[in-house]
Amino acid sequence: MLFFPVMKMKKKKILFTSVYKPFDTFEDGTPMMDLYAGRLTKGQGIFTFRSHYPALPLFLIAENISIPAVVLENPPLRALRKELEKGYDYLAIHFAASLFYDRVLTICKMAKEISPSIEIILGGYGVVCVSQDFENEKELRSLVDHICHGEGVRFMRELLGDPVDAPIQERFPTTRFSFFGVRIYFDNLLAAVGCRAGCEFCATSAFFQRKKIQLLSPSELVEHLKENARKNKSAFTWVFDEDFFSERNYVREFASLVAADPECLPGKFSWGGFGSISTLSRYSPEELVRMGVRSLWIGIESKFSDLPKRQGKDVREFFASLHDAGISTIGSFIVGWDFHTSENIVEDIDHVVEVNPTFAQISSLMPCPETKLWDRMKKEGRLRTEGFTWKGFHLYANIHRHLHLPDDSIQRWVLETQNRIFEVNGPSILKSFEVDMLGYRKWKDHSDPKLQTRASFHKKWCHRTYMALAAVARFGPSEIVRKKARAAILEYRKEFGPPSLVQHIGSLWLVTVAALSFYFPSIFCRSFQPPFSRTVYRGAK
Ligand code: SF4
Repeated sequence: MLFFPVMKMKKKKILFTSVYKPFDTFEDGTPMMDLYAGRLTKGQGIFTFRSHYPALPLFLIAENISIPAVVLENPPLRALRKELEKGYDYLAIHFAASLFYDRVLTICKMAKEISPSIEIILGGYGVVCVSQDFENEKELRSLVDHICHGEGVRFMRELLGDPVDAPIQERFPTTRFSFFGVRIYFDNLLAAVGCRAGCEFCATSAFFQRKKIQLLSPSELVEHLKENARKNKSAFTWVFDEDFFSERNYVREFASLVAADPECLPGKFSWGGFGSISTLSRYSPEELVRMGVRSLWIGIESKFSDLPKRQGKDVREFFASLHDAGISTIGSFIVGWDFHTSENIVEDIDHVVEVNPTFAQISSLMPCPETKLWDRMKKEGRLRTEGFTWKGFHLYANIHRHLHLPDDSIQRWVLETQNRIFEVNGPSILKSFEVDMLGYRKWKDHSDPKLQTRASFHKKWCHRTYMALAAVARFGPSEIVRKKARAAILEYRKEFGPPSLVQHIGSLWLVTVAALSFYFPSIFCRSFQPPFSRTVYRGAK
């Protein structure tokens, strides 16, 4: 009998990491890494939400490859060094935005110094800066072995020799946001990346070369959503797809699967996603509610814009019809278009105030490398490249010369828009309550029992957000808003009767926290750093 020595092949190991913390703040002190504080409720003073969004691509790719992996999220630099010293074959860095250029360069230098043979992979929207020549990008290019410019699962599977078309599993940490310390959790799914529309300024569409890459089929998406709904009672999932409603066949199949499944009642099964006016105009709010839609992020951009994605229903009426059906909105608005003058910008701001999105992202027009806007600005000699650093490259920056507005007025207009929305319409917590009250009234007596279940969902949220109304009535930014909050309290009592003891105590507690935040802002409105986490896959040590 012959014995062969058993050769044990050492499995390769990969470390995924985001950039290291502590993270900076924007000029006004709001945290850059906080989606709600830094963007969607920015400028809402003590009513600003706090949030932590997990770095989804890291978890997605780590889950869908074959070799042992470790994911570090927001590590301090020392923890990242210690992890690298354990010895890895690959280091994959999530380069989420070009503004982290200097941190990515530091990580690459450190990794090669600790382990010269380690293969470095860069992925994420930030990689668009690597081909530029502003800030010694040549050095970064010399340190990096692979650049993932596009969808990461397929890229990494190809690199590791894994089957590229195997089904994709999605398991992410939950996203957390909080309001006056009250925490709310939701889930995320990545249904698709990229967008075919190719709007001139759009970095995501340019990054995926105007292609849309589907990661989940309609039936996989329904199954994932159901699973999230089962494990989390306040079940809400944010579905990433730059324009979910653009693929008619996909939406049709998804809608019919939802309609046929008794587990997908509109009261239990809710999700939000991105849509454009043009693609959403094909559906009535009732059809959207039947699909489980609870929240939509829609680009308002500007009332003067002729972008194809804005064609369709009247924007103001459309937002009002969504709110009326209990669908909350995130509206994005951009300051600094070539057609903006100091006269029409005022009209544009008035318009976005009238549209009244529940949450709003107000930013400046930012040309990003690889977009058509970037190329045009370059061709027209309008990019301000003197003293340029990627560190200042973010949503509120100002990196090109404007045609009719003074460059240094852009930030002022951004701020003016945020303030007007806040002072006229109120904080997002009040607007969320208003949308839930509208949704409750819309569906509670509907002839279809399926839609009646949606009313119970809104009722639950009215009970929760009611507790914040007294704080808005006392500390709202203007008399108009304080009056709206008082009216909302009366509406609540008319609809649901007197609040419970728990709600009384909750309201009192939130008024107290609001008062402390109002009078001692430096203690309560400080910038939080996102948590550090280490997640292990397939037995990595
Ligand atoms: S529709 Fe939205 S995601 Fe698509 S290209 Fe335009 S801005 Fe980008």
